[in-house]
Amino acid sequence: MDQPSKNQATPLSKIGEFKLINHLTEKVDIKHKSTIKGIGDDAAIIKGGKEELVVTTDMLCEGIHFDLLYTPIKHLGYKAVVVNLSDIYAMNARPEQITVSIAVSNKISVEFLEELYEGIQMACDNYQVDLIGGDTTSSNSGLIISVTAIGRALKEDIVYRSTAAANELICVSGDLGGAYMGLQLLEREKSIYESSKGVQPDLSGYDYILERQLKPEARFDIIHTLKKKGILPTSMIDVSDGLSSDLLHLCEASNLGCSLYEEKIPIDTTTVSISEDFKIGQTTAALNGGEDYELLFTVKLDDHEKITQIPEITIIGHMNGKGEGKNLITTTGSVIEITASGWDSIED
Ligand code: ADP
Ligand code: MG
Repeated sequence: MDQPSKNQATPLSKIGEFKLINHLTEKVDIKHKSTIKGIGDDAAIIKGGKEELVVTTDMLCEGIHFDLLYTPIKHLGYKAVVVNLSDIYAMNARPEQITVSIAVSNKISVEFLEELYEGIQMACDNYQVDLIGGDTTSSNSGLIISVTAIGRALKEDIVYRSTAAANELICVSGDLGGAYMGLQLLEREKSIYESSKGVQPDLSGYDYILERQLKPEARFDIIHTLKKKGILPTSMIDVSDGLSSDLLHLCEASNLGCSLYEEKIPIDTTTVSISEDFKIGQTTAALNGGEDYELLFTVKLDDHEKITQIPEITIIGHMNGKGEGKNLITTTGSVIEITASGWDSIED
């Protein structure tokens, strides 16, 4: 096939991840009735038997998504699985199988890969999923781990990004911005370590945000609690790119606007104090950070009472008609349009 000539070449940096995916896939057509949902949600949905199949894939690359200088390898294996399971839960489905593909350079030892697989196995045990296959190849640009997760759900239980309605409540589980501040801390300690040889990093007191970055969990407990309380979210996404980006995905898929209240955004005290140290606003960390792997979803107004009884869930705003805009209402009462964050890049 002919390569485009040089003067036609558009740099990737000009387009951003989401526009790139849309651009590359705009001509994709669905040939099978069994493809219920293709590109555009946290996972694809395929016609199954009694239950539908739910499929998602995510890749982690050395130097882009992780730095082996400060990433415990066992945690990396765990995280590579968890980020995929999070996308299955975001469809309100139950993960059951994974495949794992790795590309490894010859500087990596068997013992190192054994540890990676200990982490993978630990995630499989904690989340009750089976490792059923994968692929192994070599790499000359560092370690690459690609995981595919397969889940199941009854058709009527599946929750998409595109089905929210105006006035519904916007909810989020847990707290936000911690994983991003954990990354900032690790990067700071890495540069101190590199510039003053031998100075050991001091990470004491920061366990929570380090764990949020290095060993995240997927919120199957939230899926379980919602089910027990009889609440079916009207739309859902997991927070992997940052609250602003992921809320915009819900709005755009559902063709709606939203009002998000800054004062309601749940942020842990460690995240608040370290964001002050780094002079990064705590709201900025929550909005533009990423990798929190919390669930962001909408519920009907009728479910308000039930939702308020779940301590791990916070109501942070409500959906609006499309014409009313996608707005952040700040603690001082100003109204700011929500825009996709700096994480809207090819590195995601
Ligand atoms: P998530 O953050 O939930 O993993 P992504 O933002 O990575 O979702 O992807 C959004 C949608 O685009 C998903 O449906 C995903 O399968 C699809 N997608 C991402 N990259 C590609 C690609 N290179 N080719 C086809 N589809 C893609
Ligand atoms: Mg997702």
